[in-house]
Amino acid sequence: MTALPADQSSFFQLVAEMSNSLVQSSSAGLDHAINDALAKIGAYFNADRSYLFQFDASLCFADNTHEWCAPLVSAQKDLLQRLPVSIFSYWIGSFEQGQYIQIDDIAELDKNSAEYQLLASQQIRSVLMLPLLTQSSLTGMFGVDLVRHHYTWCAGEIAALQLISGNICGALMRQRAERKAESLALYDQLTALANRQLTLDRLQQAIANCGRQQQYAAVLFIDVDNFKQFNDSYGYAEGDLLLRHVSHTIQHSLRQGDTLGRFAADEFVVILEQLSETSQNAISAVKAVAEKIMQQVQQQYQRQHICYHASISIGISLFNDASYSADMLITQADMAMFQAKAAGRNALHFFDPLLQANATSRTVLDNELRQAIAGQQFVLYYQLQLDAQGQLVGAEALIRWQHPQRGVVNPGDFIGYAEQSGLIVAIGDIVLQQACRQLQQWQQDSRTAGLTVAVNISARQFRQADFVSRVIKILQESGAKASGLTLELTESMLISDIDDVRDKMQQLSALGLEFSLDDFGTGYSSLAYLKKLPLNQLKIDRGFVRDILTDSNDEAIARMIIALGTALGLSVLAEGIETPEQLQKLKQLGCQQFQGYLLGKPQPVEHINSALLAMPVYK
Ligand code: C2E
Ligand code: MG
Ligand code: MG
Repeated sequence: MTALPADQSSFFQLVAEMSNSLVQSSSAGLDHAINDALAKIGAYFNADRSYLFQFDASLCFADNTHEWCAPLVSAQKDLLQRLPVSIFSYWIGSFEQGQYIQIDDIAELDKNSAEYQLLASQQIRSVLMLPLLTQSSLTGMFGVDLVRHHYTWCAGEIAALQLISGNICGALMRQRAERKAESLALYDQLTALANRQLTLDRLQQAIANCGRQQQYAAVLFIDVDNFKQFNDSYGYAEGDLLLRHVSHTIQHSLRQGDTLGRFAADEFVVILEQLSETSQNAISAVKAVAEKIMQQVQQQYQRQHICYHASISIGISLFNDASYSADMLITQADMAMFQAKAAGRNALHFFDPLLQANATSRTVLDNELRQAIAGQQFVLYYQLQLDAQGQLVGAEALIRWQHPQRGVVNPGDFIGYAEQSGLIVAIGDIVLQQACRQLQQWQQDSRTAGLTVAVNISARQFRQADFVSRVIKILQESGAKASGLTLELTESMLISDIDDVRDKMQQLSALGLEFSLDDFGTGYSSLAYLKKLPLNQLKIDRGFVRDILTDSNDEAIARMIIALGTALGLSVLAEGIETPEQLQKLKQLGCQQFQGYLLGKPQPVEHINSALLAMPVYK
């Protein structure tokens, strides 16, 4: 550590006081102690903001929990909630190794780097960020931003700030531990799962979430088969051990974020949220989870002289709005569980007879989809995309299935299954063929020659080894120029085998094709990857647009995506715009392209062609 100049000894005095107050603060007084420390540090460095972010346990989200701002600097805290941690991904690796990030002058950074762009877009000149690190994990970060001037932190100052971040981290961990102890009353002693009361609270919460998210969720009521006989044969102590074993097994079959509670002796309740927007996909998802649990539980349970194959019966009730009560859902799932028992145990049953019928009709869907492929029952609808001046820039092709009996079926009801079964590869080819033919026709007419056509590509389709050659062949057959074709990929495709993804994208972008990242913000993109891929556009998911005027988190995320797009040189398109106010807000935030019911619903091409001649202009 270099020696501090004499006038910095007052800084050490300050640090000692802050450290004392952090270490001694009670759980309830901790927020005050942290805010006080941030204010003192900010004022000492004549900084513009000093702040704390806390990360969730799985390092997915960051919340700005505490901040201090200099006079006249506007507070950001409310806008910076539940941000994807990937926003800091350039720095996370360093933080995890206990290293801090010190940038005295951002002009020293490579101007093309995402780090530079991110900092420059906020006019930051100097920044210091320190990790909040416990022995086992990264829990957050503590930072100081300077906008009006530069600052060069000396080693002594940094060491003192590291001490403070250690104190903050320790105090936060102590606070978390105390809170955990308080909530112990809500957990079952035998299995450490949520008890009946907490499970019901969580279900209540899930019902409220479901009303907001407009996605299906499910309650699974699980009962261990023949548990009484097991208890009678081996005694209660062994019965307890079996219940613990079953609870672990169920827990391991679930995703993080799913809730498992112990409801009564041998009864467990699982809550699965955000299954899907469509009942068909929600049924498949919940069925897959229930079958996995049943299969795992059935594996041999071996303990000394006991060798037992446990089994369970599961009753399921599905819900998709906030009108349900927790008691009603539990009762329904419980009734369905009895039907599963009546069907011979080791079975699952849906409460709703219609859903039960659906769950067994997958084979029907499979047959019908095969006929649809052979019988050319798919058509494309197009949805217009406009720029900020109201000029038309392109259209997204959205598949519809013209079912001989059911009429027009939306993709939500079959794409999920097509993907699972592999039929998406054939369907994807049909979509590309039709879209390229349409593109070629528009390219022939001077009024529409500049339009792009965006086509959704599913993960399984993109992973095919011959994906690139298929696209090239289809383009050639259609006679369309590649430069008008945009392929929409989703974030989840970029997670595995990034080299293969990049290779394919590079080969196609060399031909003039463009790439757009659909539903951006809903997955966990690594910014480091985004930089390396030949992307042209980010699409802000309509989930963030819906409440952009009322939910400050959604606004913050949209703002971040636009800043990120600018930093990476990508255009940003917002989808799902339904009102002029949403459009106005997105324009204000700097978004450049727009799509949504306000500007046009997805429609058959004939309607689109007539709409093209009578385009309304939204300014
Ligand atoms: P996506 O690619 O995100 O498409 C946008 C979806 O949002 C479309 O639903 C569109 O109708 C809907 N939408 C557009 N504007 C608004 C609005 O203002 N409000 C609301 N509430 N919704 C709006 P759609 O056509 O049902 O398609 C759903 C999803 O199905 C698509 O989401 C895409 O992921 C998938 N999909 C559609 N066509 C294809 C295809 O040809 N291939 C593949 N693999 N997937 C497709
Ligand atoms: Mg799309
Ligand atoms: Mg989308």
